[in-house]
Amino acid sequence: MVWSLQGERPTYCPRCGEKLGERDHENTARPYCADCACPFYRNPAPLARATVIDGDRAVLIERGRAGDVGAWALPGGYIDGNESPPEAAARELAEETGLVATPDDLELIGCGHLDFDDACEVSFNFAVPRVRTDGTPAAGDDAATTRWFSREELSADPPDHPSLRASGPDQILAAIERFGEPE
Ligand SMILES: [Zn+2]
Repeated sequence: MVWSLQGERPTYCPRCGEKLGERDHENTARPYCADCACPFYRNPAPLARATVIDGDRAVLIERGRAGDVGAWALPGGYIDGNESPPEAAARELAEETGLVATPDDLELIGCGHLDFDDACEVSFNFAVPRVRTDGTPAAGDDAATTRWFSREELSADPPDHPSLRASGPDQILAAIERFGEPE
């Protein structure tokens, strides 16, 4: 059995409370509880994100809470245990923008990886053409604002919007190339 933890390197075992040692496990030194015979991994938390492509523009949200208020990002959030990545991305898209898509219509455009001191995350990034969505963009949930970003805004170098660096505007620009023409 192995456990996975977020955050800083643990000092004490969360199962039995004993001080943790260290042991090589699969060629990597990992915190290890001798009493529980249990190594501890630091696995990233999975996120799913999705944008909608309408011609030469893509929908993004301005984050309204957490540590990055004011940053612009792909709509998205954590995947629940009972969801596939496209299901989670479609749910988050609807919650944050009001745009409704069928999970099967979402196409993977890339992935992202964030490694902070207190957390690490991976994201599955999707896009869907506007014609395959219902609804009108309106901010909801933890999105303060939602609006369309043009190809020109997304191409700005350096990016105007720091949060776009995580997954990179390149994926969104490539999605505009791929889905941007009206069907
Ligand atoms: Zn233990």
